[in-house]
Amino acid sequence: MQSLRFDNTFVRQLPGDPRSDSGRRQVHGALHSAITPTPVAEPQLIAWSPEVAALLGISAEDIAAPRFAQVFGGNALLDGMQPYAANYGGHQFGNWAGQLGDGRAITLGETLNAAGERWELQLKGAGPTPYSRSADGRAVLRSSLREFLCSEAMHHLGVPTTRALSLVLTGEQVVRDMFYDGHPRHEPGAIVCRVAPSFIRFGNFELPASRGDVALLRQLVDFTIRRDYPHLVAGNREPDEVIRAEWFAQVCERTAFMVAEWMRVGFVHGVMNTDNMSILGLTIDYGPYGWIDNFDTGWTPNTTDAEGRRYRFGQQPQIAFWNLSCLAGALVPLFAGEAPLHAGLQRFVDVYTRTDRSNIAAKFGLQECLDADVELMLSLQALMQTAEIDMTLFFRALGSVDVDAPSLTVFDDTFYDEVKREAAVADLTDWLARYVARAKRDGTSSEQRRTRMHAVNPRYVLRNYLAQQTIDRAEQGDYAGIDELLEVLRRPYDDQPGREQFAKRRPDWARHKAGCSMLSCSS
Ligand code: AMP
Ligand code: MG
Repeated sequence: MQSLRFDNTFVRQLPGDPRSDSGRRQVHGALHSAITPTPVAEPQLIAWSPEVAALLGISAEDIAAPRFAQVFGGNALLDGMQPYAANYGGHQFGNWAGQLGDGRAITLGETLNAAGERWELQLKGAGPTPYSRSADGRAVLRSSLREFLCSEAMHHLGVPTTRALSLVLTGEQVVRDMFYDGHPRHEPGAIVCRVAPSFIRFGNFELPASRGDVALLRQLVDFTIRRDYPHLVAGNREPDEVIRAEWFAQVCERTAFMVAEWMRVGFVHGVMNTDNMSILGLTIDYGPYGWIDNFDTGWTPNTTDAEGRRYRFGQQPQIAFWNLSCLAGALVPLFAGEAPLHAGLQRFVDVYTRTDRSNIAAKFGLQECLDADVELMLSLQALMQTAEIDMTLFFRALGSVDVDAPSLTVFDDTFYDEVKREAAVADLTDWLARYVARAKRDGTSSEQRRTRMHAVNPRYVLRNYLAQQTIDRAEQGDYAGIDELLEVLRRPYDDQPGREQFAKRRPDWARHKAGCSMLSCSS
């Protein structure tokens, strides 16, 4: 691990806070504050990702050594690390919230791997920072485990995401009132080391813009272009208005692609505040996220958002656009007129529409998506919603439909409610007839169609109840379930004989259970 090379451009090239203590404060004119993780009682490594370790050039011996848990539990620094908390703001639930910042995340440094790739290492739950406001800077095991597992599950599904290297228990207890209802309890503390080329968020730009600090805003934009979008300044070009406009448009494109992918796999982020939107279009900040079991565009796992359901499944594309509009608003002072920003936002619409259409074709196993196929998808979604059909199981089963003898029996395991199922039989039969006619016209063999579908319709997703069962075991000191589940999620598109239980629909007991369908921001 001593061989990790650090090149900490964020702290080296951008202005920092002159203070380096954790006293809570408003920080002006600076984009980061130096802060070291607060040591913990007894760091214990309970899970890691071999793929991320390999990416960073960390060996199995490094991981097995006691020093690994010390470093990634926040008790020791490696040579070259320069820990800091980033200063950013954000729109939360539709309202400007002012300065937020890394209240419990501490970046250790930016490493360069053997291939020359830059990976930022960031601990979440490593103790207070100037941005912790009234909170403790810590994280609990349940939320850390959820972040660890979901980051890696999303990666294996092919969805853009930050990664997770390690999950370390702190040996300390943290007090949380899980549902903010006056029932605080002690929970085990934990720290995830997350890994991404950049942790810059929309909110990093919004904060200096909100304070009228255009020079700082421009400096951050140009830094982001040079470090995170280097192809835009190839040949040492200086960022100018044209390059900045193209950069914004590419942020829009990446965000569009990411959200279309969420919709493909049935992922609900839960807290799409602008401080939780990555400038690289990566899924970031896994909090009260959830996975669609029975298809429901109105569903959100986040009880904190239960009333307005702003971040419900079906509204994610619109929210992403709204968030990009906030970013565009922050960037206005860098442009002579607003036209380039509108052009960027239009790229969101174009890329979202295009990606959605290619996902429709792929999910149906078709070579191309015709206008009528969009309608076919919408009518299926309406049926899945009223009949309470499991999204993941349905699309997987659809691949096995015999187009010469279509029958609803392949969908037997996908229903949650017997009465609703019976009520939907006639409509489903009609729909299936339309689908089969379309699939036949497409002219591909059943074999090709199934292969195409199985490559985009996962068999295994991180169902909320599976994560919760793993958490329940881990809270009892049994960590074996983490690796078992991660192993399944590593190959989400493969049928894995012997692992059928991980592909089952949500059991009835989990329907309204805390952690399975109801989560809060408390973490
Ligand atoms: P989130 O909803 O997790 O994205 O968090 C919103 C803001 O609250 C961010 O600035 C976080 O750093 C901060 N925050 C959340 N939990 C804590 C905590 N336990 N201690 C300090 N800051 C926190
Ligand atoms: Mg956040």
